[in-house]
Amino acid sequence: MSSRNPKDLSDEMYYKWSEWDKVMKANNIDYILTCTLRTLDQQKELYAQGRSKPGKIVTWTLNSKHLTGEAFDFCIMNNGKCDWAMDKKEDWETAVEIGKSLGLSQVVDSKGRIKEFAHLQC
Ligand SMILES: [Zn+2]
Repeated sequence: MSSRNPKDLSDEMYYKWSEWDKVMKANNIDYILTCTLRTLDQQKELYAQGRSKPGKIVTWTLNSKHLTGEAFDFCIMNNGKCDWAMDKKEDWETAVEIGKSLGLSQVVDSKGRIKEFAHLQC
């Protein structure tokens, strides 16, 4: 398992996450962190999923910012459950907007499409 602990983020990212967290709380948006730091072995394992191993593709790169603690993944909570269906779309969008206002970004492909909605990196 990769880490979900914000303390495993890089110093800069920890600072940005704590600012993000404050604004999230001020907006009454409930969330959990699902990933902060990942080892290269864990990244390789994830990368294999949907490629050389069965399953759905969940990552796009072997060179993830999670390897250096410069990214975090989150999930908006809806009645105590992860809102992967994105029923609380506004909360998801607000979470990303808050991240952007702090200089965080999402990963987009060459056409500007978001690869992973729940991921913010510096
Ligand atoms: Zn991520």
